[in-house]
Amino acid sequence: RNCPHFVRENLLTFMTVVGVVSGAVLGWGLRSSGYEWSRRDVMYFQYPGELFLRMLKCLIVPLLVSSIVSAIGSLDLSLSGKVGLRAIIYYMTTTICAVMLGIALVTTIKPGNESKAYQQPNATKLVTKDTLTSDTLLDLLRNVFPENIAQATIASYRTKLVYDQNDTKSIKGQLETYKIEGDYQSGSNVLGLVFFSIVLGITLGKMGEQSRPLQDFFHSMSEAMMIITGWVIWLSPLGVFFLVTAKIMEIDSFSDLVGRLGLYFMTVLLGLFLHGFGTLSILFILATKKLPCRYIAKMGQVMATAFGTASSSATMPITIGCCDDMGLDPRITRFVIPIGATINMDGTALYEAVAAIFIAQLRKVEMSFGKIIAVSVTATAASIGAAGIPQAGLVTMVMVLDTVNLPAEDVSIILAVDWLLDRFRTTINVVCDALGAIIVASLSQGDIEKTRAVQNDRDTAN
Ligand code: ASP
Repeated sequence: RNCPHFVRENLLTFMTVVGVVSGAVLGWGLRSSGYEWSRRDVMYFQYPGELFLRMLKCLIVPLLVSSIVSAIGSLDLSLSGKVGLRAIIYYMTTTICAVMLGIALVTTIKPGNESKAYQQPNATKLVTKDTLTSDTLLDLLRNVFPENIAQATIASYRTKLVYDQNDTKSIKGQLETYKIEGDYQSGSNVLGLVFFSIVLGITLGKMGEQSRPLQDFFHSMSEAMMIITGWVIWLSPLGVFFLVTAKIMEIDSFSDLVGRLGLYFMTVLLGLFLHGFGTLSILFILATKKLPCRYIAKMGQVMATAFGTASSSATMPITIGCCDDMGLDPRITRFVIPIGATINMDGTALYEAVAAIFIAQLRKVEMSFGKIIAVSVTATAASIGAAGIPQAGLVTMVMVLDTVNLPAEDVSIILAVDWLLDRFRTTINVVCDALGAIIVASLSQGDIEKTRAVQNDRDTAN
């Protein structure tokens, strides 16, 4: 009876991995063909992948809201509190471990002391607004409390410093020379949606019978979104194939991967690998008393999609589907995965810490213990604030650089290899979310059974 399911799962995974690999090979072949591919050519190649990504992204908001509301609403209140607490402890523990591992590696390997990257005059310049760390941290909380829930589905809040046009010098810190203005930038405010959904879920749980129509609505909505995900997922091999092909075609040069940024690239990669297969595996064994290999093997589809799309939010529907296939309690996965995809980004946190210290090494900035602590705290906050979209980590990096007084433009130094690192860190981000769902489900098993027994007793008494 399980055979078609088994075939479906593995065939898709296999085809998606083939999609990634053949996309890389074709992209490489096309760029080495000698033909000058224009931006427009690359856009055409990317187009089928773009359609796939649009379909996945379209599912994010309805799936995220309905899953969290229905999962929390259907759990007993004390149970959802325990599940939530376990999830938060897991997110924080793994993120802090990731940051510490990153710092240990970058201060031991010291990639910045060897590299000549800073001297390279032709590093691509990024245009960044010079907001302060405090602005970014305040925006994080502003976004948690959106003033308008409809607007939160399309835009998030961002502080802007508007400089005096006549003053071209750096005027940071002189309040009279710039205005602080608020602005909305496109892309949904997932953090605000998550928070609103949690509050709504808890409220529905508290209301009891009266909340039944809304609970049913969100439950059906979440089921419907998962059915659509089941269809879209079949397009993932083709989708990631075109996305990867186009990405490889548009990269300026690959020389930085082995050249001036090679050691930095390898440091982040080593960190991600050690975190994914070391730290997370140990935590998994300690929490569940099981080996993680069997579960990680089942995440092939999720990992290939994360690598192909470089977006943990776009991969979220597939991550939930994968956990459903593993037989986890949907109330746990639909609670833990959407929140994890939004705030739990271990790969991003590790990369932020390594990148900031790497740039400090290049700039010969002494890293005192206090500065290292500041990097750890802001790297954690930056990973929570980063959206689950391609290269979001690069944008929130500005905050980490600012804490150690490095200029925001320095993110341009690491830009050349970021497209590839982004794919690896996104893969670790989603693996960590999925493992977290398994851990939380396993730790909550006893509570779930207890609640079920109480419910059964109540039903029998009635
Ligand atoms: N692309 C990453 C993600 O979606 C975020 C980042 O680190 O840039 O998880």
